[in-house]
Amino acid sequence: MHVKAIKMRWLTGGVNYSYLLSTQDKKKSWLIDPAETLEVMRDLTSDEVGSIEAIVNTHHHYDHAGGNVTTLAALKEKGNHLSRVIAGSQRSAIANDIPDNLQEYTLGNINILCIRTPCHTQDSTCYYVRDTDTKEQAIFTGDTLFTGGCGRFFEGTGEEMDDALNVRLMKNLGNSANWENVKVYPGHEYTLGNVKFIREYIYLHKSDNERFNKLETFAKANEVTTGQFTIADEQAFNPFMRLDDPIVRRQVGDSQGSSARSQIMDKLRQMKNNA
Ligand SMILES: [Zn+2]
Repeated sequence: MHVKAIKMRWLTGGVNYSYLLSTQDKKKSWLIDPAETLEVMRDLTSDEVGSIEAIVNTHHHYDHAGGNVTTLAALKEKGNHLSRVIAGSQRSAIANDIPDNLQEYTLGNINILCIRTPCHTQDSTCYYVRDTDTKEQAIFTGDTLFTGGCGRFFEGTGEEMDDALNVRLMKNLGNSANWENVKVYPGHEYTLGNVKFIREYIYLHKSDNERFNKLETFAKANEVTTGQFTIADEQAFNPFMRLDDPIVRRQVGDSQGSSARSQIMDKLRQMKNNA
């Protein structure tokens, strides 16, 4: 399979990504979160335009779903008359295919599992994709999971984000040995900001988390980090997925390790919001 990351809203600070997910032979594609139609269309070749079978949203926010109508029209103008819009709820404009939790799709040789992860929005959906030929795996996480971070809890609680990230996602991505194989494609390029937060507030010392040191080095040297890290990496360095790490607990003020996981999640989110 192929994943093409398309930068959107970088000049205005949104640093969003749309993604073209294509089969190995590039005959079939999904276009994920094409919020800025002009920026997306100018990055697509005519073959890519012709391959798109569905527009797909990770959640209803305008910087992800706001381009559904105009992108469908632009694709039509280029000769692709697709009509399928897959999204977590009708809050995404013209959504006409709303997957249940754990609903599966196939796109050529790619199997896609929809994992609903309510919290950032109640309709947030992650798409876990596996190429049955090449064995490549990836997950499109929208604003639920970022590299080194997670989305704000606009429509949910810390308890829901813990459930979303650490239960709903993890139990559907195979055993722990497989986590190294699942590349993460989030909705925004927020990695450098997340790294700065983690170094300043959580892993203050180089000896605290070896794998985080590697993320920090990479993020400081590369503008684009999407698709460069795996679920196993996130498990190793993302504090929002390490709620029982004694260092994380100490840094949010729970040296005794007695707080509920949801409280640690809430405290982390608060600290990040105020950083
Ligand atoms: Zn959002």
